[in-house]
Amino acid sequence: MLADNHVHLEKGPYTLDWLEQFVAQADRRGMEELGIVEHFYRFVESKPCLYNDRIAPKQTQHLEAYLELMALAQQKGWPVKTGLEVDYIPGKEDAIRKALKGLPLDFVIGSVHWLGDWCFDGDPESWEGRDLEAVYREYYDVLAQAVESKLFDVLGHPGNIAYFGHRADVTAITRIENEWLARIKRHRICIEVNTGGLLRPARSLFPRVDLLRRIRIANFDISFASDAHAPEDVGHAFAETQQLVKQINFNCACRFRRRKPRLVSI
Ligand SMILES: [Zn+2]
Ligand SMILES: [Zn+2]
Repeated sequence: MLADNHVHLEKGPYTLDWLEQFVAQADRRGMEELGIVEHFYRFVESKPCLYNDRIAPKQTQHLEAYLELMALAQQKGWPVKTGLEVDYIPGKEDAIRKALKGLPLDFVIGSVHWLGDWCFDGDPESWEGRDLEAVYREYYDVLAQAVESKLFDVLGHPGNIAYFGHRADVTAITRIENEWLARIKRHRICIEVNTGGLLRPARSLFPRVDLLRRIRIANFDISFASDAHAPEDVGHAFAETQQLVKQINFNCACRFRRRKPRLVSI
């Protein structure tokens, strides 16, 4: 059975009623476990790790409210795990480490949504006039640094640079991805298979299937992620994706408790 390890509650309040809608959908879709990951940038506590004019108005929540809700759900025996999706920003490693220290988390996803002060999945017009190959090169460099930082249990949606469908020449992308894989190969991090991109402009799994094949060959473990922001999207396209990853020879997926991974057969 599967776990969906990437679900956001952020469109509703931190209440058991709201969380229960996600848990009920996970149950309907046959999921055994649900990993909630709020975007860390929503919390005032994230300011030392990411702060700019665009993000500042969104930094209004307090971690305590989220963590209390998750502790309550776990006490009730609900099959939920507590996570965060943290934006990786080069140079902010110490701030991130300090902010996460001692938090009662089951796992932390490290994601790249920013290249410098550019949030590349925010506005398609911000892509106008950019050199796509240079963008891909920078993205995979930052994605490698995210792995090398050792701050995270899971690497979020590799390939989401194609969020709006912008793609450099396929030979160039493949070369850049292979260099990235060679660079991170010796690190032990779980890489997520994120179905959320299928519902977004890219209409693609992140990572794309051909990259996922190379990730398998490089011997990384995976976890399943819907990136749902609404209850109905929990476990979206997991049945097909499960078949696909089995064809690629993945037999297990990661689950987490108190930041320790465990492989469960799929
Ligand atoms: Zn993300
Ligand atoms: Zn997410």
